Amino acid sequence: MVTCYIALGSNAGDRSKNIKLALEYLKLDPAIKALKVSSLIETEPSDCLPQSKFLNGVVKLETGYSAQELLKRLQEIEVRLGREILRPKNHPRTIDLDILLYGDLKIDEEGLKIPHPRMREREFVTLPLREIAPELLI
Ligand code: ADP
Ligand code: MG
Repeated sequence: MVTCYIALGSNAGDRSKNIKLALEYLKLDPAIKALKVSSLIETEPSDCLPQSKFLNGVVKLETGYSAQELLKRLQEIEVRLGREILRPKNHPRTIDLDILLYGDLKIDEEGLKIPHPRMREREFVTLPLREIAPELLI
């Protein structure tokens, strides 16, 4: 089992319900154990066109999946929650699930970069992460 941190974000539809459902789907997966969920915070959209505010949080989990398998599971949940696959990057999304950290693994592949490249600059990641795992950001 590997300890991971996943960023949760939503700025379309019923944002808190989307995040709650995403967490429920994660918990239903027998290969995933959710250990801790941060508070959800409202944030201004950054790096994108003007759009509605986000609700963001971070979940700490343990999983038997490889990083690539975990990304696939997260993308399945995104689709289940109505996220359009062929949508321009940075458009409003019902749910965005990003892998921030996967143990101490480093990956730099076309479709998967871990640690998430911009996580340290993004307050919507660092604030919730600091709440549940302050030791990680030192
Ligand atoms: P973003 O999260 O940057 O707003 P998307 O959610 O549409 O945009 O993700 C675009 C692509 O980012 C995904 O297809 C995925 O393959 C890739 N990606 C690279 N690294 C990661 C990661 N650590 N977690 C999630 N997706 C990632
Ligand atoms: Mg994403």
